[in-house]
Amino acid sequence: MEQDVAALRRLIETARRIVVFTGAGISTESGIPDFRSPGGIWTRHNPILFDAFLANEEARRETWRRRFAMDQVLRAARPNRGHVAVAALVACGKASAVVTQNIDGLHQTSGVPDRQVIEVHGNTTYATCLECGERHEIEMLAAAFARDGTAPRCNACDGLVKTATVSFGQAMPAAAMARAEAEMAAADLCLAVGSSLVVYPAAGLPVAAKRRGALLVILNREETPLDDLADLVLRREIGATLGAAVGVQ
Ligand code: NAD
Repeated sequence: MEQDVAALRRLIETARRIVVFTGAGISTESGIPDFRSPGGIWTRHNPILFDAFLANEEARRETWRRRFAMDQVLRAARPNRGHVAVAALVACGKASAVVTQNIDGLHQTSGVPDRQVIEVHGNTTYATCLECGERHEIEMLAAAFARDGTAPRCNACDGLVKTATVSFGQAMPAAAMARAEAEMAAADLCLAVGSSLVVYPAAGLPVAAKRRGALLVILNREETPLDDLADLVLRREIGATLGAAVGVQ
């Protein structure tokens, strides 16, 4: 085993309470593009800000067109070796929680119990009404959009319906952030996996863990602005690296 992977393995073995912090990079090996890699989503589209979604029917239609265009990829995606390794850390009691910026639900599919997945940017596998909070299923919304081409509205209250994600410019979910901060404060090892660590406030969470005394490991194929703060940096592919360090296939 390479030295840095062996070092990661030792840190995992000696840790008492791990918090795993994940970004889009953990899901690229499942076929879901990230935002900032070459070929990533931002190389093709500019983000649509929350205010534009609220104000403008065409922005809403474009948001939904993009979401429906990703539907097959999201539905076909299965957890990869990285997700399986994270789920194994939770199952054996080493990791208390997975704090994720991801919106694809793959940590839950890989077997991490819902209560131990903290989604700070929400979830795109379903939608909610921005007025009354009613849940809406993507499949039904897609069928209606294909019929009439208008952005979906809530059949209960006529409010705007949006994927249950946090857009740029939209408030962070307060309860999820509070739980994430508590997990960061309680951990003695934070594994930041597959995140460019540039999107705030989420990227502040591993910083908070480090400030509260946890060791910080960054596993990402590219450099991140927090590398200097980390106790160990692995510029490697996630699945093979975490798989080897945790001992799962
Ligand atoms: P990001 O795109 O900014 O960064 C991903 C990082 O992962 C990059 O630095 C890239 O080099 C690295 N990476 C990609 N594949 C890798 C691999 N196989 N091995 C090692 N490193 C790899 O993503 P982020 O930091 O999560 O950015 C924030 C936003 O992206 C989040 O808000 C999240 O909601 C959103 N997002 C989520 C998904 C998803 O749910 N799967 C997909 C795209 C974007």
